[in-house]
Amino acid sequence: MKDTNCIFCKIANGEIPSKTLYEDDNFRVILDLGPATKGHALILPKEHYANLHELPEETAGEVMKLAKRMADRMKERLGCEGLNLVQNNGDLAGQTVFHFHMHMIPRYQADGQKIGWRPGELTEEELEEIKNTIVG
Ligand code: 5GP
Ligand code: ZN
Repeated sequence: MKDTNCIFCKIANGEIPSKTLYEDDNFRVILDLGPATKGHALILPKEHYANLHELPEETAGEVMKLAKRMADRMKERLGCEGLNLVQNNGDLAGQTVFHFHMHMIPRYQADGQKIGWRPGELTEEELEEIKNTIVG
């Protein structure tokens, strides 16, 4: 299904032009218009899924396979020394376009970017409780 109000539906399906790095029946990989670093790309499914929770498992697997292929190509061609895969779900997690997408962010020496979090600290009991909440 496509969402007629969704900009990534329009880009993924070629209604709005984009700098396309790869395309097949199910996906388009494009350059991000507001790149964190040189070569910052987005993997877009052509079908509309708002986020990871809506994404079928099979499509999720295809996204990771495609990310691997693109990552190898980007390393070879751009000469990046690292690469972050980032995938935001929900406002609170920084998602701004509500059509599932995977960021591919090549990393270079002194590229001025920092992708990460402040590490917390937990007791053994707290870790156990969280584990049980998730899998118990
Ligand atoms: P999010 O914050 O939802 O994880 O990421 C949205 C990304 O989409 C941002 O990095 C932003 O720069 C990019 N973006 C938003 N609108 C457009 C657009 O029209 N074209 C392209 N190529 N990228 C876009
Ligand atoms: Zn969409």
